[in-house]
Amino acid sequence: MTQHVWGYLPEYEKERADILDAVDTVFSSGQLVLGKSVRGFEQEFAAYHDVAHCVGVDNGTNAIVLGLRALGIGPGDEVITVSNTAAPTVVAINAVGATPVFVDIHPDTYLMDVDQVAAALTPRTRCLLPVHLYGQCVDMAPLQELADKHGLLVLEDCAQAHGARHHGRIAGSMGNAAAFSFYPTKVLGAYGDAGATVTDDADVDARLRRLRFYGMEDRYYVVETPGYNSRLDEVQAAILRTKLPRLNDYIARRRAIADRYAEAFDGTALLTPRTAPGNEHVYYVYVVRHPQRDRIIEGLKAHDIALNISYPWPVHIQKGFDHLGYGKDDLPVTTRLADEIFSLPMYPSLSDAEQERVIDAVSDVLGRL
Ligand SMILES: *Cc1c(COP(=O)(O)O)cnc(C)c1O
Repeated sequence: MTQHVWGYLPEYEKERADILDAVDTVFSSGQLVLGKSVRGFEQEFAAYHDVAHCVGVDNGTNAIVLGLRALGIGPGDEVITVSNTAAPTVVAINAVGATPVFVDIHPDTYLMDVDQVAAALTPRTRCLLPVHLYGQCVDMAPLQELADKHGLLVLEDCAQAHGARHHGRIAGSMGNAAAFSFYPTKVLGAYGDAGATVTDDADVDARLRRLRFYGMEDRYYVVETPGYNSRLDEVQAAILRTKLPRLNDYIARRRAIADRYAEAFDGTALLTPRTAPGNEHVYYVYVVRHPQRDRIIEGLKAHDIALNISYPWPVHIQKGFDHLGYGKDDLPVTTRLADEIFSLPMYPSLSDAEQERVIDAVSDVLGRL
């Protein structure tokens, strides 16, 4: 049995004709940078999210960087987020010169504990950055209430939540702006690096467009505010356009896989994901929890199954963030969780037979603990 680490090849085999067509369309178009594909994808992605504007960028990290900058966040500002996230969330806050401030996570969903945000506010707080981690949304109403009361901005990190919904609203349509990654493993993945920032605010959109183009108006050679070169590539945009109409099918397959895992491990000591009230989960990763996590992972090696952990090292105790001054005890739920979670294989091309083999192997290991 091959290792269960996600690979795009089975998907490519199925969608190959469309993808090569898309690539050929770009190469034949005579315009390789910021052409029809980027524009088309931006319109289609905005429409899917029921937002007015989408700006295609080069990756998800820069989607957050540009989002923060377009909202006016910079040095001296504090941005409240979580430590239980992909490190790029925090790398992006750091990159704009702002200071990340962490709150702990909810013990059931592993998402931002919104009840702790009020206590983390200081006169420097400018932005709340909820991460819709693993495929489901943070409880947005209390955050929006705080943002309204204290004049804060809200940037959603949607890198793991394409198509997720919260009380009917789609992830990315709830904050002042929202950042997406299309890294190949994501629920909507490109064939290389890609990202996007979406917003309903026309001024934010205009700033995003300048920021990704050195800080200039498109094809106007004067820098207004120094920016970046962070453009979404035409080839990736063209591929994303062929995949966006399939997004709901990818999500449906992920949900079917999740349902089967939940059924298989119901009543065992392996804790399967809980969906918060009002959420429609898209299962970017299927995070399970067990106090003897390391023994389980060791046992699964005998079955030739390798598993990922999202994430083994909370950001607040990573070396590069020592300067923030956090210790292990500051975020106890986050710290404990990191020792107990692991992720079962979850991607649309996982076959039923492969999933059953994973379930059998995990059940076998659980039975021997
Ligand atoms: C993947 C990811 C990012 C970064 O996206 P890249 O495209 O890899 O730069 C940011 N935040 C979260 C939560 C992610 O999962």
